[in-house]
Amino acid sequence: MKHFVHASNWADGVIVANFYKSLESVFSENATRIALKLTDRNDWSYFDLSDRVNEIAAVLLNRDVRVGDRVSVQVEKSPEALALYLAVLKIGAVHVPLNTAYTDMEVDYFIKDSEPALFVGKSIRSDCDSLTLSDSGLDGTLIEQLNSLSDAVGSVETATLADDALAAILYTSGTTGLSKGAMLTDKNIESNAVSLCEYWGWQRDDVLLHALPIFHVHGLFISSHCALLNGSSMIWLPKFEVEQVFSALADSTVLMGVPTFYTRLLNHPSLTQEYVENIRVFISGSAPLTEQTFNLWENATGQRILERYGMSETIINTSNPLLGDRVAGSVGFALPGQEVRITGDDGSVLNHGDIGNIEVRGPNVFSGYWKKPEKTAEELRENGFFITGDLGRQDEDGRVYIVGRSKDLIISGGYNVYPKEVEQVIDQMELIDESAVIGVPHADFGEAVVAILISKTAEKPTLEALNEFLGERLARFKQPKQIVYVDELPRNTMGKVQKNILRERYAELLT
Ligand code: AMP
Repeated sequence: MKHFVHASNWADGVIVANFYKSLESVFSENATRIALKLTDRNDWSYFDLSDRVNEIAAVLLNRDVRVGDRVSVQVEKSPEALALYLAVLKIGAVHVPLNTAYTDMEVDYFIKDSEPALFVGKSIRSDCDSLTLSDSGLDGTLIEQLNSLSDAVGSVETATLADDALAAILYTSGTTGLSKGAMLTDKNIESNAVSLCEYWGWQRDDVLLHALPIFHVHGLFISSHCALLNGSSMIWLPKFEVEQVFSALADSTVLMGVPTFYTRLLNHPSLTQEYVENIRVFISGSAPLTEQTFNLWENATGQRILERYGMSETIINTSNPLLGDRVAGSVGFALPGQEVRITGDDGSVLNHGDIGNIEVRGPNVFSGYWKKPEKTAEELRENGFFITGDLGRQDEDGRVYIVGRSKDLIISGGYNVYPKEVEQVIDQMELIDESAVIGVPHADFGEAVVAILISKTAEKPTLEALNEFLGERLARFKQPKQIVYVDELPRNTMGKVQKNILRERYAELLT
């Protein structure tokens, strides 16, 4: 016998639709079309996807997850992992994706901070209700629950939400080493998705090559939403593997990737203009695309990569145009309905061409950092402008150029590494006296993590010994690729380590 499960609706406030309502009407119009093309099992149609979303939503409700509750998720990429995210949206809960590389000790912090009603991860936890979803997504507790429920599952009602309802919390570490949860509302994600679909001329017949992780804004929101809102197909690859991606290019029309995707594909001996002529647009973001890569790509394929700029707090801010000139080294124009301005450290708006802080405003800008009102007040102005932490300039036409990061963020292979966090762990090693972690240019990763160390002992730890120590405490992508011992670190009069000097000094260490 079927019964109907209802998500509890927001009782007060202005009621607006839930982004998932827009998605589910697209899914039903495109029920027979392929949503996810899979390499290791049968493809999923849009009917299959919405069916799975409905079933997982029923499991979530059954575990007492309600509107506004957090669901923290640390699972490998799979069709079920996408369905889980959509199910969280459907019932009006708050999705909190966590990088799969985080160690258990790191996850402890995120659980404590986000206080989830449910954690779906690699293992069962004792500090909150939890379920697992196996790596293949085929079995594991959540799916087992689903199977036991499925006879009884009717249609789960999609929650209607308050105007400012949260859809997700994306954790993005700060230079202090403390991770901050960027709170994104349902409206933030819907407005940006709609805007991107128009700006990038998204079409139903597009086929997106999806090889990005889905614990980050790029793979989870930016790319997936464009395809889902159009009822387009995605070639759903578990990760970026150059041969697999190269062969999938032949059946795709859009590739969204980090610059590393492009540098790696450039080394493929069979990359030619003819091979990729069905690709409508190559898009890059999450880290700087060098002019060299932009030019090499154009030489190899005849196509100019469309570079755009975004972040966890704001999804996408600026983009090069679909039609019109895509300029190497520029991240393009503010999206329609958004504003960009460049300010000095005193907050004054600078003239065109002057370098300063990039600030953005628009319906995409997050509502603040989870449980961190002081941090929110520091970075989000009362007039709605968000101080991004990036430095740049804007020319007279409005094109934005990023010149660096005011925060010392390192972006290695598309992942953010915050030096302070790594330094704090290195400093726990007895044989190390001081450390300064920087990013240096690296042909493959864009930037690589390097630790500049002071050790007074005769027997200084090797890179292997250091990383063995870090292994339990920090994800692999945060661990140094190289270490350098020095007698002294350059410091300014205030005693602050001058990382700009270190970056210059070691700029060619790994090139
Ligand atoms: P995340 O929150 O992980 O997406 O990281 C956001 C940061 O990535 C931004 O603040 C920028 O520093 C950087 N970023 C994103 N896109 C670009 C780009 N196209 N060029 C340079 N940096 C970028």
